[in-house]
Amino acid sequence: MPELPEVQTVVTQLGQKVVDKKIADFWSGWPKKVLPSRKVFRDGIVGATIVSTHRHGKHIEMLLDNDYSIVVHLKMTGHFLYKTPKTRNNPIFTEDKVNGYIHHIFTFTDKTTLEFSDMRKFGWLALVPTAKVQALSGVASLGVDALSPQFNTKNFATILEKRKHKKIGPLLLEQELIAGIGNIYRSEALYLAGILPTRRVEDITPSEQKKLLLAIKKVLREAVKLQGTTDGDFRDLLGQPGKFKRALKVYRRTGEPCKKCGTIIVRDKMMQRSVFYCTTCQH
Ligand SMILES: [Zn+2]
Repeated sequence: MPELPEVQTVVTQLGQKVVDKKIADFWSGWPKKVLPSRKVFRDGIVGATIVSTHRHGKHIEMLLDNDYSIVVHLKMTGHFLYKTPKTRNNPIFTEDKVNGYIHHIFTFTDKTTLEFSDMRKFGWLALVPTAKVQALSGVASLGVDALSPQFNTKNFATILEKRKHKKIGPLLLEQELIAGIGNIYRSEALYLAGILPTRRVEDITPSEQKKLLLAIKKVLREAVKLQGTTDGDFRDLLGQPGKFKRALKVYRRTGEPCKKCGTIIVRDKMMQRSVFYCTTCQH
């Protein structure tokens, strides 16, 4: 499932590829996930120009010049592909199976297209008045964004205080507290900070809190730089998988030796989600 770095990769690339383009047409073969309806969506976007792109947690916003925005959630396997008449038949688009489940197509006036491939078909597109995007249910409830400057030592301490009797592992996944840390990056950040996911929040010292905050930012920034982790289906706008996978230290490395100390990496389940760690490097 795409997490913050993968969604940020998409938003950044959309900014480079489709901003200032005018939408000439829209097709959908899976109208169930086009809101409020395929007709309203199409009527609301054809003729409009994309002005800018933004990320709100894992929601993608493409702002139009008509006071409306296209809001997209990739969910499990959704991803955008940007094609030009020249690149349309590139093997990466035609031979990589993951890129072949096209359910929605935006066509621009310059004949380039933005296509949404989604094997599991859970991803959705919605036409929303720009003024109402912040009030969307999945957006309004989000806590501070993990990559924003507002997520700082003071703010983190306040968040931890709210859940001081809980364990740190599950807390990091609570999107209404901190938005953007998913399953992959919480294991990686805790490893980098040397903190066990099972530690009680109140036992984490201020210096460890600071270490963890920096580790979260470092892991996410590094993943954004490498265009995310491809844990199966994620592809960027050019159809390429992310490159962070080889930088993973603990995630999905159960039974393999820790890269620092050689201890075998273990996997645990906390609130039904897998967490990976090293019992020597993390305390
Ligand atoms: Zn270790």
